[in-house]
Amino acid sequence: MVNIVILTGAGISAESGIPTFRASDGLWENHRVEEVATPAGFKKNPELVHRFYNERRATMHTVQPNEGHKALARLEQGWRDGGFLIVTQNIDDLHERGGATQVMHIHGEINKIKCVSCVHEETTTADTTVDTACPKCTLPMRPDVVWFGEMPYYLDVIEPILDRTDVFISIGTSGQVMPASLFATAVRMANPDAEIIEINPNPTGESTFNRVIAEPASTALPKLVDELLARYQPAKNNPQE
Ligand code: NAD
Repeated sequence: MVNIVILTGAGISAESGIPTFRASDGLWENHRVEEVATPAGFKKNPELVHRFYNERRATMHTVQPNEGHKALARLEQGWRDGGFLIVTQNIDDLHERGGATQVMHIHGEINKIKCVSCVHEETTTADTTVDTACPKCTLPMRPDVVWFGEMPYYLDVIEPILDRTDVFISIGTSGQVMPASLFATAVRMANPDAEIIEINPNPTGESTFNRVIAEPASTALPKLVDELLARYQPAKNNPQE
């Protein structure tokens, strides 16, 4: 039994046409992160923040999963003997639309909104405004996106999984956003023999990785998935055996 965890960041969706975060100037789609990705930014100018995420949500139907997303779905389907999990920092839905089902969005999802006060959340593809009210308690709704200074989702579930991980792949993440940047180290500390792979055309230089594939995800992943299935799941994926 071999357990695999895949961490993805904005880089895997870059070839689908969604710009990465720190692409050139540290701005997110021409906005300072403080304006659109912090609780203080929302408090100061909620109209701007709603508009920003409305724009991101509206572009979702114009982008498609790429060969990287599809290769990970194929890996999930073939990974029968051992745990499989994709942990994504992305708020887009391209993993799911590419066919993956075991996906945890630690930074929330663009197609979800939540109440600023109670536990109510809902899925939507519609625009929201400062007047979008919670149907349960009538207080305002906000994008269900984890902003800087807020606690990422699912960490209590993910941490024990990292302790039992044999293969960890970090794809398209700059490693500058905590706590995901610490996941590879957590795997290494729990399991010194773990295979820890980075896919990034501009590698991070982190010494935790024992293999670095300096290629775009869309070309690297189809090859790596073939290799991993052949090495770790041969009997399960060969009908002759
Ligand atoms: P980042 O923007 O900080 O870094 C992106 C990384 O991807 C870089 O290291 C870059 O070299 C690499 N990259 C670029 N093209 C690639 C490719 N074709 N294949 C593989 N790697 C490639 O991204 P981050 O580390 O994910 O942190 C940014 C934060 O911003 C995330 O937490 C996320 O919530 C948010 N964000 C999300 C999206 C999205 O949902 N698609 C887009 C932008 C930002």
